[in-house]
Amino acid sequence: MCGIVGYTGPREAYPIIVKGLKRLEYRGYDSAGVALQNGGLHVYKKKGKVADLEDSIAGKNVHAHVGIGHTRWATHGEPNDRNAHPHQSASGRLAMIHNGIIENYAQLKSELVKKGYEFKSDTDTEVLLNFIEEILVKNDCSLEEAIRIALKRVVGAYVILLLDAENPDTIIAARKGSPLVIGVGKGEHFLGSDASPMLEYTKEVVYVNDYELAIIKPDELILKNLGNEKLTPYVQKLDLELASIEKGGYEHFMLKEIFEQPQTINDCLRGRLDAVAGTITMSGIQQYAEQIMQTNRIIMVACGTSWHAGLVAEYIFEELCRINVEVEYASEFRYRNPVINPGDVIIAISQSGETADTLVAIETAKEKGAIILGVVNVVGSSIARTSHGGAYTHAGPEIGVASTKAFTAQLSVLTMIALKVGYMKGTIPQQRYLRLLNELNELPEKAAWVLQQHEKIKAIAEKYKDARDFLYLGRGYNFAVALEGALKLKEISYIHAEGYPAAEMKHGPIALVDENLPVVFIATKDPYHEKVVSNMQEIRARKGQVISVITEGDEHSASLSLDVMIIPEADEIVAPILSVIPLQLLAYYIGVSKGLDVDKPRNLAKSVTVE
Ligand code: GLU
Repeated sequence: MCGIVGYTGPREAYPIIVKGLKRLEYRGYDSAGVALQNGGLHVYKKKGKVADLEDSIAGKNVHAHVGIGHTRWATHGEPNDRNAHPHQSASGRLAMIHNGIIENYAQLKSELVKKGYEFKSDTDTEVLLNFIEEILVKNDCSLEEAIRIALKRVVGAYVILLLDAENPDTIIAARKGSPLVIGVGKGEHFLGSDASPMLEYTKEVVYVNDYELAIIKPDELILKNLGNEKLTPYVQKLDLELASIEKGGYEHFMLKEIFEQPQTINDCLRGRLDAVAGTITMSGIQQYAEQIMQTNRIIMVACGTSWHAGLVAEYIFEELCRINVEVEYASEFRYRNPVINPGDVIIAISQSGETADTLVAIETAKEKGAIILGVVNVVGSSIARTSHGGAYTHAGPEIGVASTKAFTAQLSVLTMIALKVGYMKGTIPQQRYLRLLNELNELPEKAAWVLQQHEKIKAIAEKYKDARDFLYLGRGYNFAVALEGALKLKEISYIHAEGYPAAEMKHGPIALVDENLPVVFIATKDPYHEKVVSNMQEIRARKGQVISVITEGDEHSASLSLDVMIIPEADEIVAPILSVIPLQLLAYYIGVSKGLDVDKPRNLAKSVTVE
């Protein structure tokens, strides 16, 4: 969940680490710290953001050529200076940073306490570190060997990076279940939770796999498995530009990413969809086309915003492919012994590709004979590598914690998969298929049109920013959009919001309606539009403040609403990709007008790599 950075080579390590940590701050940000090798280990750490760490270090000697750094997203022990990483071993010889959770830390801790160890923090990390040191001393072995022995006893997920005062040019790293990338330079190596900390120095990277251990010196990278067998590092070339992870003139990453959507939807369709030829090319789907066509059941597995994409896709697949679809929260699915039959198709949806629950859910389903397709944004991520096939969303790095462009890219990919499968199966009439290809093709332009309303939406945000609660209502494909709109508002503005199926509102939430409650209708033109309009009347009759997302030219819905946000005409299957955009902007502007840090909302982390 946290961000980790490391460097060993001829350059000054500290500036590289601090810059890298800032790029990774979206992963977790309740404290930060660095350990530097300079005639001994020097550890600096501080509660708060990386900038707070920098302030606390100002004026100190940070000269070093080897170092590691961490931004924490606490799991064990409250965020404070003491629990911040790096941790130092009891003797002071080792310093370690850790991303993940050591689940059996209590057992290990009680063993160490019996041996007289005292702990300076409440973290699971310090337990693992001292467990390693205990083995190192007792077995009189190399640090590498001690780590291997220790990790064989560890239950949980981790990336760990260690510095050893007795081997000052070396970083030892190991991973299981959390991401680790090593950048290979000339006479230097970089480490990161993703490639962003190293982009301006090298494009050559090695993705470390689970149960692998790396011994990294300036001019040497040794990769081994936990059985001490040497592995050949697979060096890949990145085609990611630094500019793509910087704010590009926008005030926040979230706003930049909302505005990127015409481009990201286009990137997602490009090279795949040919509306003139009437084809969709997706090699990672094509390979499994036969199995998908024959399956009786598709299960979408996801968390958060990706789960909402799955809900929209449920309706799309059932409509276009006539296949039974279930949508599952990964965290529930993995623990409730679900019935999975060989031949079931699992579609795992995740922006980061590292979502811990989704990853384990697909591993379990894979063992039971299911075919796993990943719809993932981050190339080379764990879910992408665990899946049999699938399709990348190509939305580019998403830094804002609240997911925006990843959602619309997921919907674009899922719609293309459904269209491809449905067409092959013969469950979509040719004319509708071709029309939908055109509709998809028109989305980038229509999304740009929707975004032009940003000033108007800012004014709407101003008007309702002090509301205590919001209700979001939609039917059919727009039901999931209502859920997503409510989630965005909660994440960014800390206002309580609920998404509901518009008709279901009468079975409970209508009791909340009074003159203080803004009710956002996603009321775009579709076959149930008149029903939604009736629901609007019901809210108005109870003095609720109706705000609507409507289709251009829908005067009637406009006349029933205090404020409207408009999308161009679009088929109901692709409309969610447009109707969610005003809701992203609404949440963004409400968050900003309340003076909140929308890129780093409290308590949240970008990718949830712990259960
Ligand atoms: N479990 C560790 C802690 O609570 C690491 C959490 C993280 O990944 O930042 O300190």
